[in-house]
Amino acid sequence: MEKYDVIIIGAGAAGLFCAAQAGQRGLRVLLLDNGKKPGRKILMSGGGRCNFTNLYTEPAAYLSHNPHFCKSALARYTQWDFIALVNQYGIAYHEKTLGQLFCDDSAQQIVDLLMAECEKGQVTLRLRSEVLSVSRDDAGYAVQLNGAEVRAGKLVIASGGLSMPGLGASPFGYRLAEQFGLRVYPTRAALVPFTLHKPLLEQLQTLSGVSLPATIEAANGKRFKEAMLFTHRGLSGPSVLQISSYWQPGEFVTIDLSPERDLDAFINEERQARPNQSLKNTLAKPLPKRLVEVLQLLGIVPEVTLKQLNAKQQRELTETLHGWRVQPNGTEGYRTAEVTLGGVDTTQLSSKTMEARDIPGLYFIGEVVDVTGWLGGYNFQWAWSSAWACAQALNAD
Ligand code: FAD
Repeated sequence: MEKYDVIIIGAGAAGLFCAAQAGQRGLRVLLLDNGKKPGRKILMSGGGRCNFTNLYTEPAAYLSHNPHFCKSALARYTQWDFIALVNQYGIAYHEKTLGQLFCDDSAQQIVDLLMAECEKGQVTLRLRSEVLSVSRDDAGYAVQLNGAEVRAGKLVIASGGLSMPGLGASPFGYRLAEQFGLRVYPTRAALVPFTLHKPLLEQLQTLSGVSLPATIEAANGKRFKEAMLFTHRGLSGPSVLQISSYWQPGEFVTIDLSPERDLDAFINEERQARPNQSLKNTLAKPLPKRLVEVLQLLGIVPEVTLKQLNAKQQRELTETLHGWRVQPNGTEGYRTAEVTLGGVDTTQLSSKTMEARDIPGLYFIGEVVDVTGWLGGYNFQWAWSSAWACAQALNAD
């Protein structure tokens, strides 16, 4: 039977980084993953360019039942620390928008960096290794693999969330937490497109592919201003993905379709200059033409010229365009979600070490923990920060 100082389950962002750090601290580390390749989500991320961190990382960009939990790890291993590592490997990157850093070339460079760091730490990586069960006794943890048992004094769970089951996602980490008596908050798909009810979806069908800047507000008042995209299933784009983390089934969201321009003032100005211009052509200046055409078919944009538009019509129109209330039918679910909300209750973990308070030697890092970031590199930063904090605390028994 093989024995290690630490076994880490999950060779995603958090597991790879934790393994590398622990290995470089002199520990014998075994890193297990059920997939054929390490870091599969990293390779998919950021459209293949991996949005590996965010310049503006701060605890306020994370959702958790315990919003203070992420503070310590994020403060001890910051975005600047990971950027320094990326610089050390000569990986070129750029800020796309809102502090989001992407590789210029390929997400593969981040996986290569992590693998090189693991090599420095002499980490043993075992792929295609589905963990079947885990048990604990006085000597530590025994992990059952297909036909083999491996043991270690410390066990780190870095098995991620439920999004993208096709990439190896499994509820393993949650089940293991429950096995050891830890509470797991209910999980749900987040950073995910909305689906719409049939009548509205059919009315908006021709808009598939149209995108525009929009501010979207959830029922709890949280709002994001970024691009929104109409799809053949409903609504997507960064502002929709962001607000999906704050949306509860049955609730409405309020969408400002022209967040940068006051349409009431704009119509008044245009009326002065071009009173005979149709309202449709007027609105097609600040808004996508196809959207205005559909809004006319729906009766939201009256078929009138500017001088024919009366005050009541104008008020109703601009109120709708600046505050379109939509009740999503649901979300596209884990199939397309970037992350999973909920997870292992942080009140049972040390925010300094990620160790379960009442179960010595058992640690949880990355997405399996009830800490979920906004879109924009925040989730990888949580993976790096929580992995680093954990690795500093690991030692050989
Ligand atoms: P994961 O990276 O999911 O790794 C968990 C690993 O554990 C997986 O390899 C899985 O196969 C393995 N595993 C699970 N169960 C078992 C088991 N029983 N036995 C063995 N192994 C197991 N975040 C950003 O910050 N920036 C982005 O650009 C970004 N883009 C994304 C794009 C997509 C399409 C998706 C799906 C997510 C994206 N995210 C992004 C989110 C980010 O990928 C995750 O938050 C992050 O990967 C979480 O890291 P993790 O190590 O906790 O889990």
